[in-house]
Amino acid sequence: MVKIYSERAANLISNAAQFFIEFLFPSACPLCGAAVSTNGELCADCWCEFNWIGAPRCEKCGYPFPANLDLGAHPLCPNCASGGCALDLIRSACTYDDASRGAVLPFKHAGRIKNAAFMARAMIWALRDTDISPDIVMPVPLAWRRLFHRGYNQATLLARPIAHAYGVPMDLSSLRRKYRPDMGHKSAAQRAENIHGVFSVVRPDKIRGRKILLVDDVMTTGATFAELRRVLTKAGASAVYGVTFCRVARAI
Ligand SMILES: [Zn+2]
Ligand SMILES: [Zn+2]
Repeated sequence: MVKIYSERAANLISNAAQFFIEFLFPSACPLCGAAVSTNGELCADCWCEFNWIGAPRCEKCGYPFPANLDLGAHPLCPNCASGGCALDLIRSACTYDDASRGAVLPFKHAGRIKNAAFMARAMIWALRDTDISPDIVMPVPLAWRRLFHRGYNQATLLARPIAHAYGVPMDLSSLRRKYRPDMGHKSAAQRAENIHGVFSVVRPDKIRGRKILLVDDVMTTGATFAELRRVLTKAGASAVYGVTFCRVARAI
């Protein structure tokens, strides 16, 4: 009984604190500053700017097909149909374009970490109709040198609420990444070559037999995911999935 009362008291205090904070700092859209009902949410105008990926999309990699295409219940893109998918399953919330670039670049390079809330929520939404059940959620690691300069790994900020949504731990210690200069605008083959060998598993005991959900902000060619799958599978991972906020979707 005492526990129930103390929990109620704690709830009341936290609700009062929330009310006070919202009174002092009204919720604002993280992109344009317009008033919104929930902190961290986008306003309707900003929401409409994004190309959110819905059906029809590739069942395996989430590639968005044109809306008027009827490909049956289990559509696959040519890459996945020929066994070329980088992971066991990939989903992205939206396509990489002016709107998503406008959210991701400041989030990644200019400390706009408040964008993480709506981005992670959209990523959780993108995974809603999959039946994956990851054991751990793992942000794609940054090299120490990059982490030191940036001060944070943007993928970790996205991975935390996703791990929470699945009720599983976030793993930040099992993988290391070596520093390599930026890939810039390179071809798929050059990106794959540049990423080869940068990741190493330092805690194989935490990887063996696990189903892992990788989290990143952008998927460009899938080279990073493919290399991570190679390294994690070698360490005994039983499945490797991926989710990103946006993805480059070239015409196929
Ligand atoms: Zn807005
Ligand atoms: Zn596909």
